[in-house]
Amino acid sequence: MNKILIKNGRVIDPANNVDRKADLLIAGDTVEKIGTVSEDCSDATIIDAAGKLVTPGLIDIHVHFREPGDEEEETIASGSAAAVAGGFASVVCMPNTKPAIDNQTSVEFVHRMGRQARKTFIYVMGAITKGRQGVELAEMGLMAQAGAIGFTDDGAGVQDTSVMLRAMKYAAMFDTVIAQHCQDDSLGTCGVMNSGYNSTILGLPGIDPLAEEMMLWRDIQLVKKTGIRYHAQHISTAGSVKIIAQAKALNLPVTCEVSPHHLLFTDDAISDYDTNYKVNPPLRSAKDIDALKQAVKDGLVDALATDHAPHLQSEKELEFLAAPFGIASLECALSLYVKALIEPGIVDWPSLISLMTNRPAAVMGLDRGKLAEGGRADVTIIDPDAEYTIDADKFYSKSGNCPYDGWKVKAKVEKTIVAGEIRYPRRVRNSRV
Ligand SMILES: [Zn+2]
Ligand SMILES: [Zn+2]
Repeated sequence: MNKILIKNGRVIDPANNVDRKADLLIAGDTVEKIGTVSEDCSDATIIDAAGKLVTPGLIDIHVHFREPGDEEEETIASGSAAAVAGGFASVVCMPNTKPAIDNQTSVEFVHRMGRQARKTFIYVMGAITKGRQGVELAEMGLMAQAGAIGFTDDGAGVQDTSVMLRAMKYAAMFDTVIAQHCQDDSLGTCGVMNSGYNSTILGLPGIDPLAEEMMLWRDIQLVKKTGIRYHAQHISTAGSVKIIAQAKALNLPVTCEVSPHHLLFTDDAISDYDTNYKVNPPLRSAKDIDALKQAVKDGLVDALATDHAPHLQSEKELEFLAAPFGIASLECALSLYVKALIEPGIVDWPSLISLMTNRPAAVMGLDRGKLAEGGRADVTIIDPDAEYTIDADKFYSKSGNCPYDGWKVKAKVEKTIVAGEIRYPRRVRNSRV
């Protein structure tokens, strides 16, 4: 049986309140022991993790791998390679592919391609409505049977309140989560950036913060009626934080995620029409960033999620109005979170790891994101002090639409182990590494 012994690392496992120096022995796809391993391990691959963090395999619950339909931007294979390079042992793919993932066969396709790629573990969310058109409910039951872990029309919000209510009632029939890209199109459909001073100066149509907050507020009223687990994707405004806080105070089953770009940039970044900063929801104001960071600190944010959205350079070179929304950030995400949250002292390492492991797993109802003897061996090894320069040309992702290109950052993913196999940097068996 393939064995890996990770020695002398700082094991951080927030799910079990563990933060201590320990060895971790993997046998096959299972964690065999956490503690002091003194038995003979001459047949094991031995990794010296002194000075390194040994954490549960990281989880990103919001990525776009573009397959089927836009394989020139990303495939499940290239996205999976990018994921493990970023330390992610599991990711959740969004269904806004072409065609949309709105049926059982499409869900099975994504799983199959994920298994073939044999890098990160691929989960998938199905669309709430057929073709993500917001009109007719998709076959959520059949998709759930095929393994879809939740539902969203991400890329757009479900506009029609009665459709959303029916979706929640339908989803209440089985244990699943409904996630929403909150945006009321009547307040933002033509917009390409945050509505405010900068959009006025640049002459670009804006998306009002209210577009996000109105839909979030509406959905929470529907949650009160249905009791369904509801997840607000990539919240971006101070007003959304308040709405989430109120929902949580009422003990509603409401969760939310924050993306790195909403913690790192204001809409000032768009001053020279650089489309690498064109994202949806858009970059907001310094006040919004402060509110999001405070929400992370207060525990109101359940997960950090990249919203990794690869696009071709030729598309991003279009004028600002026509260019697509999105940033590719899967491979440098950990360092971005460190810059946004650890370096300013907002959270410590165990809290950050929790926001990337057990807490996102709980949002999606996954039995992942923890380390336990006898449990699945998904492990990420991180050098917290390593400094490096982000180089988008070296991404495993097919796309380099990354405004962080050239940034000097800290914290490097050393290894990503998925189901007991070293999937990043490469598979190594029975040798000293
Ligand atoms: Zn979205
Ligand atoms: Zn998205």
